Amino acid sequence: MIVIASHNGAIGIQESMYVLQQGGTAVDAVEAGIRLVEANPDEHTVGYSGYPNLLGEVELDASIMNGRTLESGSVGAMKGYPYAISIARKVMEILPHVMLVAEGAERFAAEMGFKKQDLLTEEARAVWARRLQQDMPAHIFDHLQEQTELRHWVRLASDPERAKGTVNFIAQDAHGDIACGVSTSGWVWKYPGRLGDSAIIGAGNYADNRYGAAACTGMGEMAIRGATAHSIVFYMKMGLSLQEAGKRAMEDLNDLDGRFLSMMRIIALDSNGKHAGFSSSEGHTYIFQTGDMSTPDEAARIVVPIQTRWE
Ligand code: ASP
Repeated sequence: MIVIASHNGAIGIQESMYVLQQGGTAVDAVEAGIRLVEANPDEHTVGYSGYPNLLGEVELDASIMNGRTLESGSVGAMKGYPYAISIARKVMEILPHVMLVAEGAERFAAEMGFKKQDLLTEEARAVWARRLQQDMPAHIFDHLQEQTELRHWVRLASDPERAKGTVNFIAQDAHGDIACGVSTSGWVWKYPGRLGDSAIIGAGNYADNRYGAAACTGMGEMAIRGATAHSIVFYMKMGLSLQEAGKRAMEDLNDLDGRFLSMMRIIALDSNGKHAGFSSSEGHTYIFQTGDMSTPDEAARIVVPIQTRWE
């Protein structure tokens, strides 16, 4: 049994392992770990208290994949419900669909009995307002909803140095089944309705018991274009080791052309429970906990540089 997670999953990884130790499935473990991150008011890139879009609205993306069956569920650009990972799981288990977005996802969450909640905290609102007011004249900031040229301001969101983040969890249970989950409030100050890789199976999340699983953090548009999480699993299917597969998928991002390229981080697990993390910049770690460990440990991510290109 093992759980691996992005660094901000520390608040949930022990609970996730506990679920496995109690006989829970990998899907149960991933959901349990991520829920604690989604509820954490100090985590501004996931769930409740996430940073909002350009209009000041918190929009969540999340997905979950069962590596035994390849069943998947996701929600995107969803407002008002903090436990996006649980709603994604319900999409996977109840509906004949994989993905629900915006009002449809919110409607489904209400049908399933999830509690509606204002996700924007005072603290997150203040950071958003301060940032926008730096560059925007007051007459625009005061009438954001009526703007017909909001697209010009999305450049604020497009700055690769801006705060961003996602939580990634991968678990392998006592039966050897693997599941992968991802949840985020996405790029800060994004254009309303923007979907990131976290909601897209194959981009930010992929799991297949036979080979392994991978989950991404970073510039979602790149992971979507490179089908990055699926690529790693596919490279393992083609016979590459976990480390080679991860490097290859990161290197693929260097082949992307165009104007908006920045950072990527990945965690990955193979079918034997071997794990690795990858990052396009130095100094980043991920966490892991096996069934015989009482606390998680931290491991360095392998650095695979990706050229930043930004206009
Ligand atoms: N991958 C997320 C997204 O693009 C954000 C992040 O991880 O920084 O929405």
